[in-house]
Amino acid sequence: MFRLEEKKESKSSVNKIADQVESLRDTFKTGCTQSLQFRQRQLDRLALFMIERESSIKAALYEDLKKSSQEAFMLEIGVVTREIRETRNQLATWVTPTVVPTMFSAQPATSLVRPEPLGVVLIISPWNYPFQLAMMPLIGAIAAGNCAILKPSEVAPSTSRMLAAHLPSYLDENCFKVVEGGVRETTALLKERFDHIFFTGGKEVGKVVAAAAAKNLTPTTLELGGKSPCIVDRSANIPVAAERIVWGKFSNAGQTCIAPDYVLVDKEVEETLLHCMKEKIQQFYGMDPKKSDDYGRIINKAHYQRLLQTLTDNGNIFVGGEVDEKERYIAPTILKDVSADSSIMDKDAEIFGPVLPVIAYKDIHDVISFVNSRPKPLTVYLFSENKKMQEHIQNNTSSGSFVLNHTLLQGGISTLPFGGVGDSGMGAYHGKKSFDTFSHQKAIFKKPTGWRLFDVSSYVIYPPYSTTKEALLKRFT
Ligand code: NAD
Repeated sequence: MFRLEEKKESKSSVNKIADQVESLRDTFKTGCTQSLQFRQRQLDRLALFMIERESSIKAALYEDLKKSSQEAFMLEIGVVTREIRETRNQLATWVTPTVVPTMFSAQPATSLVRPEPLGVVLIISPWNYPFQLAMMPLIGAIAAGNCAILKPSEVAPSTSRMLAAHLPSYLDENCFKVVEGGVRETTALLKERFDHIFFTGGKEVGKVVAAAAAKNLTPTTLELGGKSPCIVDRSANIPVAAERIVWGKFSNAGQTCIAPDYVLVDKEVEETLLHCMKEKIQQFYGMDPKKSDDYGRIINKAHYQRLLQTLTDNGNIFVGGEVDEKERYIAPTILKDVSADSSIMDKDAEIFGPVLPVIAYKDIHDVISFVNSRPKPLTVYLFSENKKMQEHIQNNTSSGSFVLNHTLLQGGISTLPFGGVGDSGMGAYHGKKSFDTFSHQKAIFKKPTGWRLFDVSSYVIYPPYSTTKEALLKRFT
């Protein structure tokens, strides 16, 4: 009986989707989202939401992922709060058309680039940072003057419910909607026509989204995942590298798209790095990380089972390996003696959990060939004090970002575009880049009808053409 009702409800929510998109389309046509004041007001309301609902956000993140209060603030709430503030502060500048130079032969004239809203946009977000990754693109969509539908991940149900319950009372409901649901609802959404689709998630679903968008020629931003390598050179400051790798890998129990997926370490410093990382794990999470308030849990049973598989047949467990199915707990685990051919190193097997394989290398050229033989990652991390090596890796690998001597922090630098390349995604956002992603850069060219005497082009562009006119054109081209 309950199942039947649940099915009915889900069916009606799917049926409502077309109407919701249509109503947003009608609202957008009224032009109400266009003014700077409207956008600023919505951002102010978002800022208020962050203040008034901080405890609900934290509670939801704890229920979904057992995120500690500080981690929830540091990697989700704080990032979003800063993005709202910076966007709000700079929006007046961003919306102002930019005058660009006009070539001599087109004078007198004025050329401008004017950002304008795209229309109705769809934002589909994942479960691992279920709050941050829903809110960050929404801020960009609002700032750029769009209407938007946000589809949070059903795999983080508490955060999804919290967003659906609270966001609508802060934002203009006629312009911004939260649609909850999974594959069924997202499939229904993707049948509708949007002016932009912003998707964060895995590569396979990314292809489904891109295919659906292509039917309507809808532009997409795809924020995907992959295996980000972390290279540790023999010149690296090993204790610092260990601290930063352990933090980047085991925050959110390794369920971070830009977490170091695996470590490639110079054979000479392998043992030191392994021991330093073990010490750091103990320092961060205690002798039994299961008891630590600061260590998260795996999102669900399916991911827990998937990660269990990585603990067998993939080298030897150097530290960790303890599990508890009831709690979906997997200890921070480091694997050593891992072969590059093992299943955990499969080019498509993004680990997305607290298991870190470490592979030793002898020749840095092999490392570069290895990284370049695989899909382009979101990030290449390098720990090195050697300037030549830093340049060499940076210049000879391709990735969404290149990070020297730290992990994860690049995601919080609002002046840096955040996004992948190749298999790790297309397009980028954060800060001004988000505003640009959700805007059309309209080219505006204005020419006066007076001042004919000074209208340079009028002497050469109109027929009858002649060798003199062509020569003049050549002179000014
Ligand atoms: P996912 O691709 O399974 O799901 C993402 C979203 O797509 C969810 O909202 C889900 O409801 C929807 N979805 C799932 N299957 C669908 C289908 N068949 N048709 C239509 N929609 C569907 O991803 P996930 O498991 O939520 O997230 C993990 C992945 O996301 C990892 O690969 C990770 O690297 C990547 N990720 C990337 C970034 C980034 O910024 N680049 C950030 C976080 C996560």
